Amino acid sequence: MGKKCRRKASLTMNPPLFATESMNTTACSALPYTHDPSVKVGRIQNFVSWSPDMVPDAAKGGCLGLEYFCFDGDSLWESSNEARAELAISELEKLGLATRDQIRGSRVVRQPKAYPVYDDQYRNIVDIIRAELAESYPNLHFVGRNGMHKYNNQDHAMMTAMLTVDNIIADRAIRDVWSVNEDAEYHESADEVPSVASGLRCVPARAALQ
Ligand SMILES: Cc1cc2nc3c(=O)[nH]c(=O)nc-3n(C[C@H](O)[C@H](O)[C@H](O)COP(=O)(O)OP(=O)(O)OC[C@H]3O[C@@H](n4cnc5c(N)ncnc54)[C@H](O)[C@@H]3O)c2cc1C
Repeated sequence: MGKKCRRKASLTMNPPLFATESMNTTACSALPYTHDPSVKVGRIQNFVSWSPDMVPDAAKGGCLGLEYFCFDGDSLWESSNEARAELAISELEKLGLATRDQIRGSRVVRQPKAYPVYDDQYRNIVDIIRAELAESYPNLHFVGRNGMHKYNNQDHAMMTAMLTVDNIIADRAIRDVWSVNEDAEYHESADEVPSVASGLRCVPARAALQ
């Protein structure tokens, strides 16, 4: 593989960190995002609201998953499990979702490479990798979220695989898998795909230092 392909290593992945709290109440909706700037938790889900089978004993209470967005090596990622659990408990209290005495236990899970990050470099790097692999390995297909470094939801990640099967069976690119993404509908023919469905994203620009 040529030198340019190794630049894939610099694509940024954002690993979230989960602190799961087992508690003796089920009062909370399924998946609220938190927009309160006074807390660090990004998303909270109550697993029992998805299904009672997702918690050990639904009759005794629920199990909340608190999601913290961070980067490999930052202070949130590096802090101890005890500190993480304490932060989660204090933020549950602050948000009024539970009191400390309702919490029966906790578990911290660090999940690396969970989210493809759209920084100001990613598009260029993905283009370089795509071009070089298409030239050197034309029968190598990219599908899925991390496979394409695209922030796809599950249905769109699966669709890229299904359309790739069509391409493999046809032995040519009759489907444009790169036009599938989380906020654009897939269009049947690559010729008809408008630019808005091309997978282009607006990315935040770096502020100029004064
Ligand atoms: C925290 C979180 C919440 C999400 N919430 C939602 C949601 O509510 N709704 C939604 O639609 N989507 C959601 N998503 C996105 C959804 O999970 C992904 O879009 C989807 O799982 C991507 O499917 P995939 O097949 O591309 O990758 P994955 O599901 O990640 O599958 C890739 C598989 O490849 C395996 N693998 C990796 N490397 C190797 C290797 N070298 N050899 C063999 N196997 C390997 C992995 O173990 C994994 O099983 C969420 C994602 C995250 C991280």
